[in-house]
Amino acid sequence: MDGTPPPPKQRLAADQLLDGLDDAQREAVTTEQAPLAIIAGPGSGKTRVLTRRIAWRVATGTADGRHVLAVTFTRKAAGELTHRLAELGVARPGDGGGPDPGHWRGVTAGTLHAIALAQLRRRAERLDRPMPGLLERKARLLVKIVGGRGPDALTAAADLAGEIEWAKARLLRPEVYAAAAELAGREPSRGVEVVADAYARYEHDKRRARLIDFDDLLWWCGDALADDDEFQAEQRFRFRHLFVDEFQDVSPAQLRLVRGWLGAGRDLTVVGDPDQAIFSFTGADPTGLTGFRHEFAGAHVARLDRNYRSTPQVVAVAEAVLADAGRPRPPRVAVRDAGPFPRVTAYDDDADEAAGVARRLRDAHAATGSWSSFAVLYRINAQSAGFEAALTAAGIPYRVRGDARFLDRPEVRAALDVLRAAAKATPGASLDHHLDGLELADDHDDARRQHAVAVARLGREYVAADPEGALEGFLTWLSTSLRTEAPSLAGDAVELLTFHRAKGLEFHTVFVTGLERGLVPISRADTPPERAEERRLLYVALTRAEEGLELSWARRRALGKRTVGRTPSPWLGPIEAVLPGATTTSPAADARAGIDDARDRLAKTRSGDADDEEPDPALFAALIEWRRGLARASSVPAYVIFHDSTLRAIATTLPATRASLLDVPGIGPVKVERYADVVLDLVRTHSDRPVIASV
Ligand code: ATP
Ligand code: MG
Repeated sequence: MDGTPPPPKQRLAADQLLDGLDDAQREAVTTEQAPLAIIAGPGSGKTRVLTRRIAWRVATGTADGRHVLAVTFTRKAAGELTHRLAELGVARPGDGGGPDPGHWRGVTAGTLHAIALAQLRRRAERLDRPMPGLLERKARLLVKIVGGRGPDALTAAADLAGEIEWAKARLLRPEVYAAAAELAGREPSRGVEVVADAYARYEHDKRRARLIDFDDLLWWCGDALADDDEFQAEQRFRFRHLFVDEFQDVSPAQLRLVRGWLGAGRDLTVVGDPDQAIFSFTGADPTGLTGFRHEFAGAHVARLDRNYRSTPQVVAVAEAVLADAGRPRPPRVAVRDAGPFPRVTAYDDDADEAAGVARRLRDAHAATGSWSSFAVLYRINAQSAGFEAALTAAGIPYRVRGDARFLDRPEVRAALDVLRAAAKATPGASLDHHLDGLELADDHDDARRQHAVAVARLGREYVAADPEGALEGFLTWLSTSLRTEAPSLAGDAVELLTFHRAKGLEFHTVFVTGLERGLVPISRADTPPERAEERRLLYVALTRAEEGLELSWARRRALGKRTVGRTPSPWLGPIEAVLPGATTTSPAADARAGIDDARDRLAKTRSGDADDEEPDPALFAALIEWRRGLARASSVPAYVIFHDSTLRAIATTLPATRASLLDVPGIGPVKVERYADVVLDLVRTHSDRPVIASV
């Protein structure tokens, strides 16, 4: 920045841009230090500061809007950023799809891909070369390479596409893929050598067809910046002021592009949160953010430490999940007033969970009068089907955020193709029979199988409603019952989205669903770094909530060919430990007092003087012994089962019923579900004192 004093008229506007910021945010908006990284937790105002900083720079004349580039990683986020800039008067509402030199006041906001594409197009024009066509789906070429046909070929192609995307995000060519993938501990189903070979053929076929894919946009643009002096000079002139949101999820290919644009310049501001790095599996690398000072010489790092988004109750629950990893965490200050305690609900099965969520949405809507302040979050796309059906049945408008709606997904289309083929082959057989066939078809791919099961379940629902119904009827029924929303309700709708897609967003009330082992963390995450990423992913999901946070899991879920018994996510343990026992009932009137009270009781039980009572020594010893055996048998640390303080409290209050167990700090519905029988039995058999069935 050049620090030239702006004229008075602009100063006035600039001052207004500092309204509604705390001291640290204000400093981050106005500092002349650059390059600058703002590293801070969820809801701390990073995106707010980034947009204000852009507006401030424009208003004070230290940046010309036409030379500002603001980068986000999804089209959605770009839209959000542009919306905020428009509110601040430095962008036009509705922009955000890509750069356009004709923009009013010129601020360009978009995804890296959109910007790279526009730059490459312009370069192709200048060089009078044809721009290659964009290959939107790698599968188009990969299906031919893997050979075979039908759903299996599609699945194999999708697997390969994932690996190729990882490689290209990390700037790894086919020749070096195998070695790098092994080093990174990747285990593609067909082995790294097969992937390397397919990757080389894919690149070859793509070149011959004169196509480029999305990854090429970044890679080529980076190459052009490195090799083409004129292009480099043009772009560096055009975008002199760079701003990047969600920098923890930048990939090496993206980092190279940002470096290419910056050149010898220094005017780069990034914001991010390493605790929210959730895209390592696709090739992102948070060290671009955590090593910012190392990456960019002379860089400055600013921190924000207050959470403006979420109530203290939500913050406590989210922090408990990360704290459970065992590393000390900086204290978080939650600015908002206390709200209701998050609730944990165990449902009998996944259909019950979906119906339960729909019921609660109805109730909550009666209070707020709006649908769009609610979001239902899930770990994998296949989970959306149940919610789509339940919300449709309940007449609740919803929107599925994702690449494709359930019915448009390749896995679903593949399942429907299987049904069509079966109906054609044996026209006399009933739809029910074909549904059996679909469900029993041997298919090792999780996503495919889960979608096939989901389709079969919907089919049974249809058959139940229309016993004579055949395939054609089912297809029509499907498209109507899974319709996203009635046109008259467009706009105000509940959002259905995956944890990943929820990044950066916020909602009044968030339902975080499917909190079971196998989903959270996802079953394939078997290395410590993968599990750590899954933990951060849950953290991202929880921190989307402003006030209401509803957590749920199902005791049985349709997965694979069968309905299988489920156990709660290991991370519900630390969550319940910070919730008072009665989380399943209505929220305490004074929630903050409730939290303090719970903490107090915990502290007291830890020091052994809870309510002036001593624990029953025989029972306490029996509980410790039982916990030791269980911990050993399930290879988990003892405190994961119950903290000492919890056992102490049990041995002191002698709960006789499930309800009174729930009143013990550190015990929530999940623990009751898992351990109530044995704990109550221990209380009955080991305590010398009379046991009173209290509350
Ligand atoms: P995430 O890491 O989830 O992307 P973030 O750090 O980008 O979060 P923002 O989305 O910028 O956080 O801010 C969270 C919410 O808090 C927003 O609704 C924002 O408008 C609000 N907010 C931020 N700072 C303040 C403030 N000083 N006063 C009032 N509200 C604020
Ligand atoms: Mg943000």
